[in-house]
Amino acid sequence: MSSQKPTYAIIGGGIAGLTLGIALNKRNINVVIYEAAAHFGEIGAGVAFTANAIEAMKICDPGVYEAFQHVATHNQWESKKNVWFDFLDGMKMDQDSGHQEDLFSISSPVGMNGVHRAAFLDEMVKLVEDQHLAHFGKRLIDCEETEDGKILMKFKDGTTATADALIGCDGIKSVIRHKIAGSDSPAAEYVYTHKYAYRGLIDMDDAVAAIGEERAKNAVMWLGTGRHVLTFPVNKGATMNLVAFCTTEKDWPDYTKSTLPAHREEALKDFEGFGPNVMKLLEMVKPELDIWGIFNLEHELEAYNKGKFVVVGDAGHATSPHHGSGAGFCIEDAAIMATILADPSVTGSPGTIEAAFEAYNTERKVRTQWLVQHSRRQGNLYEYLGEVGRDFNKIEQEITANNFYIEGTDVHGLCSKAIETLQQEIRKIN
Ligand SMILES: Cc1cc2nc3c(=O)[nH]c(=O)nc-3n(C[C@H](O)[C@H](O)[C@H](O)COP(=O)(O)OP(=O)(O)OC[C@H]3O[C@@H](n4cnc5c(N)ncnc54)[C@H](O)[C@@H]3O)c2cc1C
Repeated sequence: MSSQKPTYAIIGGGIAGLTLGIALNKRNINVVIYEAAAHFGEIGAGVAFTANAIEAMKICDPGVYEAFQHVATHNQWESKKNVWFDFLDGMKMDQDSGHQEDLFSISSPVGMNGVHRAAFLDEMVKLVEDQHLAHFGKRLIDCEETEDGKILMKFKDGTTATADALIGCDGIKSVIRHKIAGSDSPAAEYVYTHKYAYRGLIDMDDAVAAIGEERAKNAVMWLGTGRHVLTFPVNKGATMNLVAFCTTEKDWPDYTKSTLPAHREEALKDFEGFGPNVMKLLEMVKPELDIWGIFNLEHELEAYNKGKFVVVGDAGHATSPHHGSGAGFCIEDAAIMATILADPSVTGSPGTIEAAFEAYNTERKVRTQWLVQHSRRQGNLYEYLGEVGRDFNKIEQEITANNFYIEGTDVHGLCSKAIETLQQEIRKIN
């Protein structure tokens, strides 16, 4: 085995793979991203980030944070700059005045930070585009460790490549998770949460005309029985991002597809019983839409690593989106993995990469699995499902406590702890 500087292969260039690729590249670590698609691209409309994710961006590289700052959109009213979401009963509204009282409001040190996914990605790509960091059209179909300790990767286009270790950032359908878990393990499979979502972007002027400035220009969570809607501004306030969730007993018809075509009329029918504000917004989304199945990794992996293989981001802990933190935790993962791999003890000499991945697993497993489990429950709280029902005090308390766990964590502290754990692992091999 080589004691030269190791080369890491990242499989997948979504938010996890790209932020990790940038973080490693900026630390002068050899890294190559292999992405199945023809170019970097994000599907879906908006994504929001919490304080911990923003801190993690700075650790990955100041350029990632600047890219985010360039496109981040906050609540548009100064009085709401520290509001994460105002929570409303979406099924209630005074029909005459059109007024809708807040049930409660959840604040955050950084307020709401929405970005248009494609715009954020475009900004991040600028950080690496001149450096031939990524190979496109490379769908990994198999990988194995060879006798010389290298990892051999086989791609669908018939080509192969080698690296010293392989980091799977290949999302919820991860090939590398299958490799780590074993294909017959339940942990290899993703599971439908029995929720689906309509996602749309609405011109902000139209949204303001329909539901008034306060609700349109600031983030709102519209709660309701078996359904909920969230809206927040993106594109520096020019656009409203809308996600409308429904719970269903029916199974998802085709697990090979994450989305299915739908029509606006279906969304309007699904949200019958909601107040006029929600209905007016749904009337404004484009007529042909997609329904997104909400899947997660319900069965926990025993470990995120096995030898020189490791999974990062959704590949290890894909969650339902009800904490709005899946992507944020991908960026935390990237910050911690980059910190570990940049440590001088990870030389590539025998056992050091395995020790690094072991330390990553130890430090990431509990927190990320917490998110997967709590997110499912939070989705149900938004829809009055379960024992809490419409007890809004309890709903508020639980969301506040969960947000504190997510945002109140010192990401620098997580990185320092990861280095301590790495040193313990390194001592075991010396
Ligand atoms: C409706 C919805 C709303 C959400 N809202 C938020 C939010 O507000 N805030 C938040 O933090 N998170 C949110 N999330 C979660 C967030 O979108 C994900 O956690 C995040 O995008 C996952 O990033 P990733 O890079 O791990 O995986 P992915 O984005 O899935 O990227 C995986 C990449 O790997 C590539 N790939 C896959 N297989 C292979 C292969 N075999 N070979 C090579 N390449 C491969 C894919 O092409 C893709 O580019 C939301 C999710 C949903 C569904």
